[in-house]
Amino acid sequence: MLSSILVFSTLASLAAAAPQPIVKRAVQVVSNCAVSGTAAVTFDDGPFIYEQAIAQSFDNVGAKASYFLNGNNYGCIYDHADEIKSLYASGHTLGSHSWSHPDMTSLSWDQIHDELWKVENAFIKILGVKPLYFRPPYGNYNDLVLAALDNRGYKKVFIWNQDTGDASGVSVASQKALYDQIATQSPNPQLILQHSPLSETAYEVVPYALSKLQGAGYRVVAVDTCMGDQGEWPYQWIGQPQQRDSSWVC
Ligand SMILES: [Zn+2]
Repeated sequence: MLSSILVFSTLASLAAAAPQPIVKRAVQVVSNCAVSGTAAVTFDDGPFIYEQAIAQSFDNVGAKASYFLNGNNYGCIYDHADEIKSLYASGHTLGSHSWSHPDMTSLSWDQIHDELWKVENAFIKILGVKPLYFRPPYGNYNDLVLAALDNRGYKKVFIWNQDTGDASGVSVASQKALYDQIATQSPNPQLILQHSPLSETAYEVVPYALSKLQGAGYRVVAVDTCMGDQGEWPYQWIGQPQQRDSSWVC
């Protein structure tokens, strides 16, 4: 008797509530790395002309970088296909940062998908894989953006816990001071925001950052590795890379 009353009251309260769709998403929003002693340095807004130099600094010290690439921002992704192949072959992690760098929260459902699929299409043509990691421009997202990412099979949305401010004109000295401070926080994990189309970032901040982070005992790894011991593959295999043709334009 008691149980039937409980069931009845539960059903009644459910019926009284406004209908709420049950949203169970696979896509995960990440604001920091998870593994103690790891630091991931991430580079947004490329490709432009400094991605290779940054990768070289990382390669020199056995570290891995993460790049969240646009389709058409500082440069057109198809014009940098060879560099992107090289970053990928060197084991740096590549994710999407949208096609044209809009505030994704200002877009309609169809516009959000358009921003996502055009970058996926470029990755598939250039590398044969679809990206499953996304960084929203300005770090801005909403339920509609997350629903679209989920719908398209994305695994993670990476925000950050440390912003060097390089894109907003923070001086090299202040960026270095941030790395000094991060070094004192070892081994707390770090997910750091930089931007690859900036020469000061590439040639002054990155070498300093790598030296500071590794000097403090950090393992400087890509975002897939900093989330768990095994890491995960941040792509979906689609097929062989394609040959350049007339469709490789922005
Ligand atoms: Zn950006």
